[in-house]
Amino acid sequence: MTEDRMQALLKSIEEADKVLIGIGEEFQYDWSALVQDHRYQEIETEIEENKDHLWINPFLQKMILLRSLQDKWKTAYGNLRKVIEGKDYFILSLCMDDYVYGAGLDEERIVTPCGGFRKMQCDQNCSHELVEIPEAGYAEVMRYYRGEIPLESLKEPICANCGSALRFNQLGVTKYAEEGYLDSWNKYTRWLQTTVNRSLCVVELGVGMEYPGVVRFPFEKIVFYNQKARLYRIHSQLYQVGEKISGRGEGIQMNALECLQMI
Ligand SMILES: [Zn+2]
Repeated sequence: MTEDRMQALLKSIEEADKVLIGIGEEFQYDWSALVQDHRYQEIETEIEENKDHLWINPFLQKMILLRSLQDKWKTAYGNLRKVIEGKDYFILSLCMDDYVYGAGLDEERIVTPCGGFRKMQCDQNCSHELVEIPEAGYAEVMRYYRGEIPLESLKEPICANCGSALRFNQLGVTKYAEEGYLDSWNKYTRWLQTTVNRSLCVVELGVGMEYPGVVRFPFEKIVFYNQKARLYRIHSQLYQVGEKISGRGEGIQMNALECLQMI
């Protein structure tokens, strides 16, 4: 049954003029490799006792993301690329692990409004500008991770403008710098305008209810208003499609990351 639906989905993508992809929680890297890392367990205890150094955590997260890009994600993004290559597509991803970048997809056609680990910002967003990750600071955290220098020797990177902490540009900072994704968001909304009255295949890959106003609700609305649009919602639990678009919507009960292994 699921296989038939997958075939229908692939056919629908092939036949559509435009393809809109939403990526969500089932694709997000789950930090398991970091949590299981023996050295990280030691560090966790050490920074528990020394909370001034909690700031190093995201640096270690970035390190583990780079180190542990596992086959599961490589295959999933590789297969996604194969399926939509050559199509007029746009990808809206809620993931913050940056894995959607560097997968051979056209980065001009990707928007990640929750941010990630590619740039940093002032925690207070005083200048409305993003900054590069300070290489020396990152290298020092890695030296500490390798046990070469003590925790106390690490200095938190700060904003050159106001002295607040520098943070990775992602949701969760005190004042999130939306400047990190607004240009791509504008491209996305302009692209959406080109889908009006065109055959459009909309695919949600493991998008839950964490930020329903970003993917799920607007995607349903797009499909509702465009009679030539179809929605495929792939999720292990939240795969249901509302009645309003029944007939042009299909829920596939499956973990989206697993599903993309099979194509
Ligand atoms: Zn600042």
